Amino acid sequence: MSEQTSPPLPPDPVAEALAGLEGFDIPDFPPGLVWLVGAGPGDPGLMTLQGLSALRRADVVIYDALVDEGLLAWRRPGATAEYAGKRGGKPSAQQRDISMRLIELSRQGLRVLRLKGGDPFVFGRGGEEAQALAQAGVSFRVTPGISAGIGGLGYAGIPVTHRDVNQAVTFVTGHDQAGLAPSRIDWRALSQGAPVIVLYMAIKHLPQIRQALLDAGRPASTPVAVVQNATRPDMQVLETDLGGMVADVQSSGMGAPAIVCVGEVVRLRQVIDWAGQLRGIAPRDLDPLGRTAAADAC
Ligand code: SAH
Repeated sequence: MSEQTSPPLPPDPVAEALAGLEGFDIPDFPPGLVWLVGAGPGDPGLMTLQGLSALRRADVVIYDALVDEGLLAWRRPGATAEYAGKRGGKPSAQQRDISMRLIELSRQGLRVLRLKGGDPFVFGRGGEEAQALAQAGVSFRVTPGISAGIGGLGYAGIPVTHRDVNQAVTFVTGHDQAGLAPSRIDWRALSQGAPVIVLYMAIKHLPQIRQALLDAGRPASTPVAVVQNATRPDMQVLETDLGGMVADVQSSGMGAPAIVCVGEVVRLRQVIDWAGQLRGIAPRDLDPLGRTAAADAC
């Protein structure tokens, strides 16, 4: 361990307020611990209480590209913030660098917060970092976050499951480690067995993904939603279908970060677009699945 040590924590009204919440057992954050925290999809309010309690105590915050600046501003005054973003498709050497940095900071006796967008273990390489920490003998803790493929769609008024539509939901990455279209996906099995497919990082290879699903027998009329900047003030939602999604994304000018949802649950946005309704936009269809009577019978 080097000379640098974690300073004693100054009094903090936020930490005190958290400590005052009955039943909330705030986990310890001793010097040298690395804490992997999910920041949620964007809106800082979607961070967990555990995450906030970590943010108020960390000496250094190592954050990713998708972590909201507003959230970083909540860190303990005097804490360092270090950007460790990875852009899609970069080689994994950089990931090794991030893990090495976490280990190094821990060995300096600092409280290290690794803040990752969404949930750290959902397409976020949090598993790789945790494994590297364990292999280095560094103690760590994990606090999950709201993943964009669930919470981001929720903000768009799309439930990832609905009793009348799907008994399964499948999360898929739109590119592999080399940044290419994913190579180890059985599109036929997915097309036939996954009623709702939620794609992360899918914009770049959207044409190949569309073709793979169509070739595997998924109808071109399957509803699709593309949600860009979900839960952020500039959130944009495009409703389209599998056949038209590539052209529609192109003409709308939408890009990453976006979640693509393929499946009948997308239709429910017509009635559940709560954010639109709060702005005064009336629901387009109160029963878009046309199944209320059937559901009542269950
Ligand atoms: N761990 C993250 C995912 C990281 S992979 C999670 O659980 O959400 C990065 C991808 O997540 C992006 O390419 C995009 O597909 C999705 N994503 C993350 N934040 C998003 C947001 N606010 N809006 C739309 N998509 C988002």
